[in-house]
Amino acid sequence: MVIVMQHGASAQQISAIVTRVESMGYRAHLVQGEERTIIGVIGDDRPIDRTNFETLDGVDKTIPILKPFKMASRDMHPQDTQVALDGVKIGGPQIVIMAGPCSVETREQIIETALAVKEAGAQVLRGGAFKPRSSPYSFQGLGEEGLELLAEARQVTGLPIVTEVMSPEQIPLVMRYADMLQIGARNMQNYALLQAVGKANHPVLLKRGMMSTIEELLMSAEYILSNGNSRVVLCERGIRTFEKYTRNTTDINAVPVIKQMSHLPVVVDPSHGTGKWEYVTAVARAGIAAGADGLIIEVHPHPEEAWSDGAQSLKPEKFAQMVRDVKRVAEAVGRR
Ligand code: PEP
Ligand code: MN
Repeated sequence: MVIVMQHGASAQQISAIVTRVESMGYRAHLVQGEERTIIGVIGDDRPIDRTNFETLDGVDKTIPILKPFKMASRDMHPQDTQVALDGVKIGGPQIVIMAGPCSVETREQIIETALAVKEAGAQVLRGGAFKPRSSPYSFQGLGEEGLELLAEARQVTGLPIVTEVMSPEQIPLVMRYADMLQIGARNMQNYALLQAVGKANHPVLLKRGMMSTIEELLMSAEYILSNGNSRVVLCERGIRTFEKYTRNTTDINAVPVIKQMSHLPVVVDPSHGTGKWEYVTAVARAGIAAGADGLIIEVHPHPEEAWSDGAQSLKPEKFAQMVRDVKRVAEAVGRR
């Protein structure tokens, strides 16, 4: 449940409620809104009689949270959360575009791509150094060497870096280089990894599993939030359906659904969502029109030579055109 404090409840009244919640064995999650403070009761609160709390000083009312996710729920946190990476804020009025290659391949490739996506208007550089590949015989990523190249690209361009981490043991290493930790679709329900990034003091990009429901995505976010990390951005990257013309089916519905149910920012990945570069711009526009806070796009200077996901990678010129198109859609829906 959440305990909604009265307008102008005093700090003393708030801390008395927090103490009471904690003495009952729950965690109290304080959300200081512009208008009033709300206190989330974290844990299985079914045994609590809510009316007891409503008689306490400074309390306006209590509201049960019936959804299985609590900290990710908008009931707990009515305002939109903004997640900052350096100066870039995801979830505010400005659309944030993350772009770069699927995998970091060589110094020339990552630097050339980073400069091009920055020039076109991207605010974050993506690139995988640890790659979750369907085949053990496919390129698995450059590992730490890839992270070093990403750090060089950041030095050259100033763009913050988002890159995937595949296991709890990799987290300290990846954190040394990355500004944001990406949890890939295949790991969305790797609970040990979710708990570990929950304890890491780094923003997280959580991608939806290819066969996961929206509720499962939000429950995975709950793992991260309940372990102490509030900087989570969700990513719709397409789900598996019976349709074969595209690699996945971008679930545009998920954008307004998540926006209604959760306060967390949402970005759309039309590259993995479609699997074909020809459709990326159209679906990027759709994502922003539906209310997404940003996009993550695969870009490669020579897609035909890419070591992974070439078919869905935009060439830099096409990416620049996509940014111009998306900007017009963003303005049409009241975003920058
Ligand atoms: C990626 O971003 O390159 C990637 C592997 O994505 P996903 O986890 O969504 O398949
Ligand atoms: Mn990829």
